[in-house]
Amino acid sequence: MQRYKIFITFARNFEKKVLPVDFIDSMRQQLGSEANLLFQALETEPVTSIRLNDKLEVLTFDCDTDEVPWHLDGYYLTGRPQFTLDPLFHAGCYYVQEASSMFLQQAIEQYLPQDSIVLDLCAAPGGKSTLLSQYLSSAGLLISNEVNRQRVFILSENIQKWGNGNTVVTHNKPAEFGEQCANLFDCIVVDAPCSGEGMFRKDHAARDEWSLRNIKMCAERQRSILMDVWNALKPGGLLIYSTCTFNSEENEDNALWIAECLGADILPIPYEPDWGITETQAGYHFYPHKTRGEGFYICALRKNEEPFSPFKVREGKHRIVKANEEYVNTVRTWLQHPDEWALRQSDRFITAYPKKYKELIDYLSTFLTCISTGFGIGEERGKFMAPQHSLSMAKDLKRDAFPQVALTREQALAYLRTEALTLENLPLGSILLTYDDVPLGFAKNVGNRLNNLYPNEWRIRHL
Ligand code: SAM
Repeated sequence: MQRYKIFITFARNFEKKVLPVDFIDSMRQQLGSEANLLFQALETEPVTSIRLNDKLEVLTFDCDTDEVPWHLDGYYLTGRPQFTLDPLFHAGCYYVQEASSMFLQQAIEQYLPQDSIVLDLCAAPGGKSTLLSQYLSSAGLLISNEVNRQRVFILSENIQKWGNGNTVVTHNKPAEFGEQCANLFDCIVVDAPCSGEGMFRKDHAARDEWSLRNIKMCAERQRSILMDVWNALKPGGLLIYSTCTFNSEENEDNALWIAECLGADILPIPYEPDWGITETQAGYHFYPHKTRGEGFYICALRKNEEPFSPFKVREGKHRIVKANEEYVNTVRTWLQHPDEWALRQSDRFITAYPKKYKELIDYLSTFLTCISTGFGIGEERGKFMAPQHSLSMAKDLKRDAFPQVALTREQALAYLRTEALTLENLPLGSILLTYDDVPLGFAKNVGNRLNNLYPNEWRIRHL
């Protein structure tokens, strides 16, 4: 069944830079003569890959694809499409994710039960968080955190488009988790800020920013992040540490330091020999001359068991406001499984978040800076409840609660640019717009015009 198309146009112009001399020397020390193969691979075209959202049941491409061997939903594309021109990209049907980093799936499948409470500490723009959110599904809870103010909003956008509702996006420092959430998380993912050698093929500017001094600084910062958050991981809990660098200072040295100084065991992650992964004494490397993807390193560790007090939701004054009953009754009819969601109201907005984790989320909301919680479901407008955009992205949306109108690709792109739409013979009120049978967002027919309700801050700006 033809369900979905990627529109291919290629655009890749950038200023080429040479590899730093100190990088060449240090990789020769690390890899011996094999380093030359790495240098050659870094001068070839980067690999483009996407990971599918389970929003889609069937997918076909009008370009050649190949499966990423370590993730069932991962596909390599033959070129780099202009994703902006694909409405399904904006509907969160897939995430453009570097193939190597999808290997996280192998670690969590091996060690993480789905009903786990997970912190993705360095989460923007959201590649690993969308993967975790899909894996945990409705059983688990994901706290997806980003310390950088500019980056946290794109993270929140990507999480809302993914549509699971099992995620709280926060904007906090690692130490705030360590200090306030002792022994809370079953798993913490630290995809650390790093010197970025793994990006040397994709982003030549990264070559200019690289230096041995920067590696040392990054390694120190990584340890300080790990130390700050360590207390938030349950004894026996899983730590996933990853970077997109090749050097051992930021990788193996840090993994061994975690094991020895913080107290953890390094765990094996299963892989097939023909995947080209390089296993070392502490973790796994993805080198572009051996693996189809960009540079990446990952290590899984189990925190030592020790006597501990489990995290308890403390008594306190929760600032959470119960939603107005009348509105609650309305918005519940917009969900497939209304009983699975707790609802709260803040100003004019009603938010849905997992009932199973209500107490914990309410408590965390009292001291964490939450950018988005679950998904926004409705907004009070005058005397009415209007559906919020993130409801249209949510997997639990009850589509037939709204009249639906299918858009052509041109109409869909105009909608995503927040232009005015002219569609004939529509019923009054909120209308769910779809493209290729996937929800894109809402519009409101007010009689003499159709209001485009696509979020202004997410609109397509350049075509
Ligand atoms: N995990 C993300 C993904 O898969 O899309 C990529 C994360 S990126 C490699 C590292 C992130 O760490 C950046 O978003 C950066 O803003 C954040 N960061 C930088 N300094 C940090 C710090 N001191 N503590 C925590 N996070 C930091």
